[in-house]
Amino acid sequence: MPELPDVEGFKRVLAKNALGKTINQVVVNDARILGKFPARTFVSRLNGVKLVETRRHGKHLMASIDRGGWLTLHFGMTGALQFGRKREDEPPFTRVRLDFANDGCLAYTNKRMIGRVGLVEDAADFIADEKLGPDALDRRFDFDAFKTAVLGIERDVKSVLMDQEIVAGIGNIYSDEILFQARINPAERMNKLAPGQLKRLFLEMRKVLKIAIARGAGSEQFVECLPKGSLLPERNKGGHCPRCRAPLKVFKLGGRTAYCCPRCQDC
Ligand SMILES: [Zn+2]
Repeated sequence: MPELPDVEGFKRVLAKNALGKTINQVVVNDARILGKFPARTFVSRLNGVKLVETRRHGKHLMASIDRGGWLTLHFGMTGALQFGRKREDEPPFTRVRLDFANDGCLAYTNKRMIGRVGLVEDAADFIADEKLGPDALDRRFDFDAFKTAVLGIERDVKSVLMDQEIVAGIGNIYSDEILFQARINPAERMNKLAPGQLKRLFLEMRKVLKIAIARGAGSEQFVECLPKGSLLPERNKGGHCPRCRAPLKVFKLGGRTAYCCPRCQDC
């Protein structure tokens, strides 16, 4: 399930392989991924252009187009972005493919079709239209801004961390990892956190996301590359706390499955 660190990985794939190259063919294998955007317009607007700049906001990836406008990519539950040398090697579940004049192609894959590919005129307007809060790793989103954003919210901390309108980029998996590292019960009310807990939550949010990016989130061997003491490799049925080896507690919170250690997080 792609969250901020995974999408940052896709951003690097795009930046490394696709920027500055002329797109000479646009393939839409399944127009449902474009939503209401007409496939014919999508194809004609991307044909012959170059992508010049990448931007990520939360779980959204954007690339600016030299003739104006932005390509937008959202990965939903099963989306990914892959670069291939040959068109014939199109990966399974490719919904949209951009082929480049001097070889290579960029494939947006998505097995479950939850997610969206689109074109917008302005990146900032798009972020506003999607009602996205500040990106979790935005330098301007410092502790004071975080504190202001979550001030007085009576919902559980896990749901607040996952609320894209409050802070963009965190989903089910990384909210569990962040709360585990901060030793906070996912079901605790946000407005009940002590000042020290709030500070720890903010610091662990940044640390966990940055480590995940640095260790190659989204790649196949990623879980094995995580530092010792990470919850993620144990985040499955029968998993144990990487610190105290207690069996992890699993429960539903706001419709999502939360994993936590009953001893370390008092949950
Ligand atoms: Zn523990």
